[in-house]
Amino acid sequence: MEETKPQLLVVDDELGMREGIRRIFNLEGYDVTIAENGSEGIEKGSQKEFDVALIDLKMPDYDGVTVLRTIKERWPDTECMIITAFAGIDSAVEATKHGAYTYVPKPFTPDQIVFEVNHALGKRRLTLETRELRAEQERRLLEISQEKSRLRTIINSINDAVFVTNLEDEIVLANPRTRSLLNFPSSIRAGDNIADVLPREVIDLIHEAQEKTRQDIELVSHEWEMKPNLELVVHMKTVPVKDAEGDILGFVTTMQDVTQLKRLDMQKSQFVSMVAHELKAPVAAVSGYLETMHEQLLGDDIGSYEKMIGRSRERLQALIDLVNDLLNISRRDLGTVRREITAVRIPDVVENTRELLEGEMARKDLTFSAEFEDALPTIDIDRDEFSRVITNLLSNAIKYNREGGHISVHAEREGEDVRISVSDTGIGMKPEDQEMLFRQFYRIKNDATRSIPGTGLGLSIVKQIVESYNGNIAVNSTWQDGSTFSIRLPIRFSGGE
Ligand code: ADP
Repeated sequence: MEETKPQLLVVDDELGMREGIRRIFNLEGYDVTIAENGSEGIEKGSQKEFDVALIDLKMPDYDGVTVLRTIKERWPDTECMIITAFAGIDSAVEATKHGAYTYVPKPFTPDQIVFEVNHALGKRRLTLETRELRAEQERRLLEISQEKSRLRTIINSINDAVFVTNLEDEIVLANPRTRSLLNFPSSIRAGDNIADVLPREVIDLIHEAQEKTRQDIELVSHEWEMKPNLELVVHMKTVPVKDAEGDILGFVTTMQDVTQLKRLDMQKSQFVSMVAHELKAPVAAVSGYLETMHEQLLGDDIGSYEKMIGRSRERLQALIDLVNDLLNISRRDLGTVRREITAVRIPDVVENTRELLEGEMARKDLTFSAEFEDALPTIDIDRDEFSRVITNLLSNAIKYNREGGHISVHAEREGEDVRISVSDTGIGMKPEDQEMLFRQFYRIKNDATRSIPGTGLGLSIVKQIVESYNGNIAVNSTWQDGSTFSIRLPIRFSGGE
């Protein structure tokens, strides 16, 4: 097949005939292979694929039809021609039944045989070409359908609603997300009119896009609060689809769920306004005290201002605490917190923190106890971050405790984690107040807490740190009886945030 010369097999027991044919076809540019009898013909004809085989009908061993049949079985596309001196209709029919291309009676002229063989060769080439073309066509069709299904798969797996409409306001294509985002009960199909399947807001957007393209404006986009109170907000965009000449064929519209982004945006604004509010109160108070002193409203004895100075210092200290907490939060949000993970002994940190807070405990006449499991493992954690967690929990246990109350710390291993709990005998919390506890700036407001200073940031920082180590925090509290905050932290550090 690969050879450029046409391959001809001649099977004939007559030497003169064989050689004659060989000479003729060598001159014609054929590569000629000779077989002297039927069995040699079968052997050579089966070994490789010939373009054309000339087979004598009568040979001493096998007859030509048997040779032809064997070759055809192996190479169905080899064109076989029977040559015989005993031309007769029976043999001809028999030979063609088994796939002979034609029948050449002896004697024949060189021109005759060349004509017949060339013809057979032409037929074979045509058959092969047609087959090749068909295979190529099938391959192309397969490729196209694969390409189409690949495109469809991509469009269908996009998490935004994507749909195409034509100039008759009909849907051309819509991915499944379109239906789910629009909460449309049945699927949206090609040919549906947009008035029947799309909400007013989307239809208006498409019509606006149709209008704007006339003014050469390509992109039209809107934000649409589909469900109020930031429950579902989508960002919709429509652009025209053009052909190679730049004529508009239709429009592609995408709808993206931006609810989370909008909520974050909102939280950011709320945060800024809360920070401003929290900063304003102490600054205004201190400014008021300074004003009083400046005007010497209580006379010129500094002693008369002792209480004001004390209050100012307290308010400024609270302000410094707030600024430090804010800096801490922003460093974590920006990811600029540098951690040094080491094996930390929990009792050491608890003891250090207790020493730091000893004065405050004494002022409220609080007692303290700590209980650590004997084989308590060290934990892989940044020591400063862990100290911040323990300091926040212990200082809350002091602040929200009653005079003469008690604080206890307990730590034990729980599988691959440790659980550390800090309990107090303080004012406790009502169940409804516990839900928001870990939110930034959240402070429970009641008679018991009114006079206790704080920023409402401590527990949110604790939660953020603990969760960044794949741990968690929980609270158990009884109103006017006391609270227990417990944190669970993995013993081994596994990458965290
Ligand atoms: P802050 O103590 O600065 O107000 P936190 O985030 O540490 O801020 O605490 C938030 C709120 O949770 C506090 O204002 C307080 O009402 C309540 N709280 C925290 N710890 C306790 C506790 N141990 N007992 C009772 N209430 C607490």
